[in-house]
Amino acid sequence: VIEVKNLYKDYQTAAGKFPVLKEVNLEIDAGDFVAIMGPSGSGKSTFMNILGCLDQPSSGEYMLNDQPVARLQGDRLAKVRNQTIGFVFQGFNLLARSSLLDNVALPLVYAGIDKPKRHARARVLLEKVGLANHVNSHPNQISGGQQQRVAIARALINRPSLILADEPTGNLDSKTSEEIMALFGELNREGITIVLVTHEPDIAEHASRQVRFLDGKIVEDTRTAPIAVKGAPHV
Ligand code: ATP
Ligand code: MG
Repeated sequence: VIEVKNLYKDYQTAAGKFPVLKEVNLEIDAGDFVAIMGPSGSGKSTFMNILGCLDQPSSGEYMLNDQPVARLQGDRLAKVRNQTIGFVFQGFNLLARSSLLDNVALPLVYAGIDKPKRHARARVLLEKVGLANHVNSHPNQISGGQQQRVAIARALINRPSLILADEPTGNLDSKTSEEIMALFGELNREGITIVLVTHEPDIAEHASRQVRFLDGKIVEDTRTAPIAVKGAPHV
């Protein structure tokens, strides 16, 4: 799925060029479940933004599903992103004034799909993440763990082959975090590739592989479990 070669990222600051990622090389095969770890400021989020086609590297190559994407821009980049990747964030990023059904269905509004079809698909995904009885609730009526389940359902709406999650359990207690990781594990066994950032070793243990960043470089890459399922994802 992912092939990153000799990737560099600098930020331009008042003081000059500030290197954040330095000579990063990483291959992730379809069906892998990878935890990215490392201290604050080591470049994890910068790297995730590049993997997610939300930001461009300063130099180097990035192949996503065998397509070079490092220098794609605008609509062409957005298309690859929307067709391939589901995003999950630490802060859930749900719309407070919309029902869970509308929150999950939101990406389909942009795709021009009519409301009955949107809601039918959103309902299937909310059932999948264990929220069948809450489809008409609003985000403030459910717990943080349930809100993250909604965000995961929303990430699945375009049938992504890859889920990227930056500290998805950062705002959750440890028991709820374990439940969210179990849900990621289920999705992974269905064939979805998952890359997530976490500070917690206990959380990283749920993944099959642990990659550690230090000062913008990968300093450790350990596999603790085989790739669960190879082949096409089905959601
Ligand atoms: P954390 O664990 O705190 O989330 P991180 O590993 O995700 O940290 P990044 O957010 O990737 O770290 O940041 C890496 C470095 O790049 C930091 O020193 C940060 O201050 C800097 N940085 C991040 N974004 C920008 C930006 N848009 N402009 C300038 N510098 C930035
Ligand atoms: Mg970060």
